[in-house]
Order: sequence, then C-alpha cells, then structure tokens
Amino acid sequence: METALLPISRPALGSGGITGTWRTLKPVVNLAKCIDCGICWLYCPESVIDWEKGQKIKIDYTYCKGCGICAHECPTKAIEMVPETGL
Ligand code: SF4
Ligand code: SF4
Repeated sequence: METALLPISRPALGSGGITGTWRTLKPVVNLAKCIDCGICWLYCPESVIDWEKGQKIKIDYTYCKGCGICAHECPTKAIEMVPETGL
C-alpha cells in the first residue's frame, strides 16, 4: 500500500510582492550573535531570508515586509528591527 505524501507549503519568493516605501522597520542581523540555526529562514512568511548552513544569512529587503517575525523567533536575538531612517 502506498503512503500518502504530506502536503508541503512552498511559498514563492516575496509572495506579497515588492514592498515599496511603506515599511517602517527593517531587520538587521548581527552576524557575531548568529549561530547559523536557520530558524529565521524557516519562519519568514515572505521567504526572503537566504540561508544555507555555513554561509552568512542575507535578507532581501526588496520584499521584506518588516513584520519582525524573524527577530522574534531568533533564539540568540541576533536580529534587530531598526527604523528605516536609522540606517
Ligand atoms: S534565527 Fe538568528 S541565530 Fe538563527 S540563523 Fe537566523 S539570525 Fe542566525
Ligand atoms: S521582517 Fe518579516 S518579512 Fe522581513 S525578513 Fe523578517 S520575517 Fe521576513
């Protein structure tokens, strides 16, 4: 008997579209605190965090909505949400 495959969600990159200028906060990663766990990559609803074990994570700000979920889920608090104007 065949076993049914579990459904897997695969969100497209930046599924919410290009962000534009309305975002007020953006995530900035402190790589010194990052333990390379990939949790931010897993939780980002826009799928805009580029992570691969052994490589520094990168965030695509063109599509990032500034929701802060990555910062909230990061176990080492390596991601800080900073004002757009503060960069
Ligand atoms: S969740 Fe935090 S510690 Fe883990 S990869 Fe992302 S930034 Fe690094
Ligand atoms: S702030 Fe939200 S959209 Fe932007 S990288 Fe973090 S989880 Fe993804």
